[in-house]
Amino acid sequence: MEIIRAKHSGFCFGVDRAINLAFTEAEKKGRKGRLLCCGHLIHNRAVVEKLESMGVTVIDSLEEAAAGDTVIVRSHGEPQEFYKEAESRNIQLIDTTCVFVKKIHDIVREAHENGRPVIVIGDRSHQEVKATTGWCGYEATVIGNTEEAEKYAALAASNDSDQNTPVIVCQTTIRHELMQEIIGVFDRYGLNYDLRRTICNATRDRQESCRELAKQVDLMIVIGDKHSSNSRKLFEIAGNNCENSIFIENAEDFLLKDGEKYTKIGFIAGASTPEWIIKEVISRMSDNVTKNMEQNPMMDFMDDIEKSLRLPKPGDVIDGKVDQVMDDAVIVNMGCKKDGILRADEVVLEEGQKLSDIFKEGDDIQAKVIKSDEGEGGILLSKKRLVAVENYTELEEAMENKEVINVKLVRAVNGGVIAAYKEITGFIPMSQLSDRYIENADEFLGQNVDVRVIRVDTKRNRAVFSRKAVLVEEKRKAVAEVWSNLNVGDIVEGKVMRFTDYGAFVDIGGVDGLLHISEISWGKLRHPEEVLKIGDIINVKILSLNEEKGKISLGLKQTQPEPWSLVGDKYQVGDVLDGKVVQTKEYGAFVELEAGLDGLVHISEIANKRVENVSDELKVGETVKVKIMEIDPEKRRISLSIKAAIPAEDAAEEPAEEPAEDAAEEAKDEE
Ligand code: SF4
Repeated sequence: MEIIRAKHSGFCFGVDRAINLAFTEAEKKGRKGRLLCCGHLIHNRAVVEKLESMGVTVIDSLEEAAAGDTVIVRSHGEPQEFYKEAESRNIQLIDTTCVFVKKIHDIVREAHENGRPVIVIGDRSHQEVKATTGWCGYEATVIGNTEEAEKYAALAASNDSDQNTPVIVCQTTIRHELMQEIIGVFDRYGLNYDLRRTICNATRDRQESCRELAKQVDLMIVIGDKHSSNSRKLFEIAGNNCENSIFIENAEDFLLKDGEKYTKIGFIAGASTPEWIIKEVISRMSDNVTKNMEQNPMMDFMDDIEKSLRLPKPGDVIDGKVDQVMDDAVIVNMGCKKDGILRADEVVLEEGQKLSDIFKEGDDIQAKVIKSDEGEGGILLSKKRLVAVENYTELEEAMENKEVINVKLVRAVNGGVIAAYKEITGFIPMSQLSDRYIENADEFLGQNVDVRVIRVDTKRNRAVFSRKAVLVEEKRKAVAEVWSNLNVGDIVEGKVMRFTDYGAFVDIGGVDGLLHISEISWGKLRHPEEVLKIGDIINVKILSLNEEKGKISLGLKQTQPEPWSLVGDKYQVGDVLDGKVVQTKEYGAFVELEAGLDGLVHISEIANKRVENVSDELKVGETVKVKIMEIDPEKRRISLSIKAAIPAEDAAEEPAEEPAEDAAEEAKDEE
């Protein structure tokens, strides 16, 4: 014998939530008022009795409640006035109205506020329908079957009115076929309508799996309360598709005396049937079957059932199927007795993206359990945290492989900055934010920067990043690159960065070289500032390289011709030129013709008179007219005369003291 449980069976998401909220409330201690439930929480005697034993009293209407009492609102919902009355009478509500039912309330309320007619397809005696009409001023037209649809459609079609297009909602638990039949009538009459598909998938799926299973088995068992409309509907569907079908409330009702005559038994439980009742029935079936069979094929089946009763724990990663996609959440079937709820804020959504853009009913889905039972019924799931797990794994790999990742600096905190990496964040200490000293991190906020992962703690969800490590590394690479391209003798462009007394430091593309004062000019300098400014861009020659010590010597004067090499072309004996007195001595004065090219004016050549003291006649820095008297390229000497440069009519008669040549020798010895 084979026994098959329907794919969709037992508590739906809404009932599960309602029961959890009610039991959580009933377990609370220290309540001042009474805990009441307006009507039976669900159509299941066992659950109702259990709640009563926990102190929950069932009342028929809010009139029976007093100020200070707490009233549980069932998953079917209540009309709008119920809430207003509770508030005005200081009655606290535990609202277990199913989110799908609440959605219907919102639709009809909005339609009513906009003056649009409302049609509810459903059973007018059902609490859900009664409550729904209470959200549109009880002005809805309730249509429960095709006859009523015919009447309504005929009247509407004959009414040549230009009334607004009616909004149609459906009771969550009606058969899909009924809705289609009624809509078919409207179509036949050519009516306009705005149909909102509000039939709950849980009901449709359960009915569908009941129909499918009933077709395959010899006996179909429906487990549910006799007062539960959805269980009765399941029995109806079972009867229409299987020759033998029975409706039981619990294990006591189950008498499978002639079980051996069935080879395949299917069973399904209504939306309000608790798992413990299903389990009892299975157990009873197992006993009966065992008595009648040599082997017990129920054992595997029981294992499967046990498995389905086990709930995933927080932290578990589950595989499931998308059961329903709503605006703010996705309901996930995880193959266990509770549904998973994946709220929109636990999904990574792009700007403007909706859940329906990325999930479809029937899709396979993987998510992380974040709460298994918080009185909200289903099991809370998160895609984000699953992504977060992946993100932390990526960080671990990046740290291990010394990879650079890109993060966004989002917030300054005490001692550093919070940086976002995909769906997680990490911390960058202030000291790791830059390769320079940072006092205030504000200038970095909003920037995307490359960082190294320097610590990851997946248990505590922590990560520490360093931007400095990346900058230092980049600089090191750049320096190595620069060094590999440098050769002694190369002329390179550089920027004057700073001065010292002995020269200037020049940046030549990421590394600094020293331009010694003696290498700046062919002439004599007291300070580099005499010819350079900070920020000047100059061409310099690499004179020496020491990569080990990181020292580079540069020369600027080497990029210009050495003055003596041009003397023959530029200067001739007899030329009269302007020169600058750069030094005075007892025997004469040195006059610079250009940087690096000095000539000597012997004391006897300074004036047409006897000169006792050179410095009485000439001052260092003074510009004088000189005549070239002699050029000796070999000895690198130029003899100059000031008095010879004086026009003849101005010249004085006084003779000089010493011959110029002797003085030049003297000067050379001093040099
Ligand atoms: S059947 Fe659907 S609408 Fe009704 S309580 Fe269950 S989940 Fe909510």
